[in-house]
Amino acid sequence: MSLAERIRNLKEELGGTAVLVAVSKTKPASLVQEAYNAGQRVFGENKVQEMVEKWEVLPKDIQWHLIGHLQSNKVKYIASFVSLIHSVDSMKLLREINSQGEKAGRIIPCLLQFHIAQEDSKFGLSFQEAEDILQSREFVEMQYVSVNGLMGMASFTDDEEQVRNEFRNLHNYFAILKSNYFKYNPSFKILSMGMSSDYKLALEEGSTMIRVGSSLFGER
Ligand SMILES: *Cc1c(COP(=O)(O)O)cnc(C)c1O
Repeated sequence: MSLAERIRNLKEELGGTAVLVAVSKTKPASLVQEAYNAGQRVFGENKVQEMVEKWEVLPKDIQWHLIGHLQSNKVKYIASFVSLIHSVDSMKLLREINSQGEKAGRIIPCLLQFHIAQEDSKFGLSFQEAEDILQSREFVEMQYVSVNGLMGMASFTDDEEQVRNEFRNLHNYFAILKSNYFKYNPSFKILSMGMSSDYKLALEEGSTMIRVGSSLFGER
């Protein structure tokens, strides 16, 4: 099956219920272009430099999503063009995104990344840490970031029940934060969860955005 067919099939499976972020990290720009030619416009990268390099050479109507851990000192390289930062996991990072958004003259859309997996290797906020941010006066006064939802990665395990529970937890957090802090903010609507191995479970648990790499582009 060709890349174009794999994209078409996955989009058909989604049927408009969730956005497909095609994760192109480590893959050459030529492959991104091939996916673009098949109609894909949203791409995910986990490294700033790689994303900048691809942004420079590829069509400007691509929406670039930063999905990997982001260091504060690198925000400046992507502030002018990034469509969505999935990986906000500290007040310090949010502060820098706000400041770079102001310099770039735009509001930068973000997701709060939650730690939902059992492994402690993965980045992300706890529910309490997220509430601390959302309740702070500093956050409320930020004008150049827009928190549009949550992102999380489930444990890397064959245990489907565990993965399902982790996604369910994230969905619950989403619902609580929505009603406590974003009730009248229609932009807070993104629940980014699900990768090649677990997107079907994520969709069943309410995902609105999946990040799929290897099952589209091949193993890395
Ligand atoms: C690499 C990556 C993905 C995609 O993983 P696949 O297993 O290749 O689909 C999704 N989300 C994040 C945060 C990633 O780093």
